Amino acid sequence: MKAYVVEREALIHNIRALQAHAGNVPIWAVLKGNGYGIGIVPFSKLLYDNGVRRFAVTELKEVEVLRENYPESPILMLRSTADPAELNALLDLGAILTVGSYETAVAINGIAAQRAGTAEVHLAVDTGMGRYGFLPDDTDRMISVFRYMKNLKISGIFTHFHSAFSSEKATRQQFELFRGVVEKLRAAGCEPGMAHCCNSHAFVRHPEMHLDAVRIGSAFLGRLAFKTKLDLKRIGWAECGLEEIRQIPKGQTVGYGAGFKARQPMKVAVISLGWYNGFALSRENDLFRFRDSVFGILHHLKNILLPRKLLVTVNGHKCRVLGHVGMLNAVVDVTDLDCAVGDKVVAQINPLHAKGLRVQYR
Ligand SMILES: *Cc1c(COP(=O)(O)O)cnc(C)c1O
Repeated sequence: MKAYVVEREALIHNIRALQAHAGNVPIWAVLKGNGYGIGIVPFSKLLYDNGVRRFAVTELKEVEVLRENYPESPILMLRSTADPAELNALLDLGAILTVGSYETAVAINGIAAQRAGTAEVHLAVDTGMGRYGFLPDDTDRMISVFRYMKNLKISGIFTHFHSAFSSEKATRQQFELFRGVVEKLRAAGCEPGMAHCCNSHAFVRHPEMHLDAVRIGSAFLGRLAFKTKLDLKRIGWAECGLEEIRQIPKGQTVGYGAGFKARQPMKVAVISLGWYNGFALSRENDLFRFRDSVFGILHHLKNILLPRKLLVTVNGHKCRVLGHVGMLNAVVDVTDLDCAVGDKVVAQINPLHAKGLRVQYR
């Protein structure tokens, strides 16, 4: 009974809205983390059937699953790796590899040479994310990769924005750095191919940055940090049944820390969703800027002092969650509600953080 329900029509709506916004620019659907929690296989199938046929992932096993289902689709491995066993497996599967450093370029080139073939790669440029990528003023080494690594077929170049959900200024700076690198390479006679930098937030907010392709993940799930004109929908919800209904007396406490105390007799119901299932993990957990800033501390303080009401829907009616949510259950106020054990409870959660819920497409 306990499940994360994906509404097929809503997901298709988002796929189409994003495609319309992309126009002729191809979309790489990012499917890391088991397709952001909604299942890499069913999610990729909806994408494929609706015309999004390029995929980007971070794990070998994700490449395996996609290749099994889509023999012809381009699959981009976003993580730069120099591990020989992994590289061989990825090349067997025809994945496009990421070159995040000169050393990785040497490793991939060597393995491709051993295999008497070429490896298709995209170069990563680090414009501020601080993980994979050549630094913007390291174009000389990028040019060496073009000149000397004959077993690499460089078909793309990309960077990743660190603050597209919050700062237009930071994103513009990264974009200019990236564009500068691409121009420098072209001026040196090195054609990097498909240039791409947009993740979901930049894609939605900055059409001028779409370049030759975009990489979209969270927008498919309608989970963006700001409102957009694209009319993206929430694509699902968590569902469970009322486990137990109880009358509690005035003065009864509820949950760890006795975070709630009844001021009068109440009718309450136990639900089988807890933070382990991703329930009541607040939005700030998705968006690091809150945590890292003074504003974030104030925000947390406010949440402690003036907790926002957490609600679930029981039989179509909003009900308040009482006290702290437990690992695998919570207690809700159903005092004024006509309800019975087994009645349906719906809660909003981020499927990315959901564990222990069966994903069900409807
Ligand atoms: C996760 C990821 C994306 C997609 O990000 P969203 O904001 O979910 O669209 C794009 N590019 C890279 C390199 C990523 O790691």
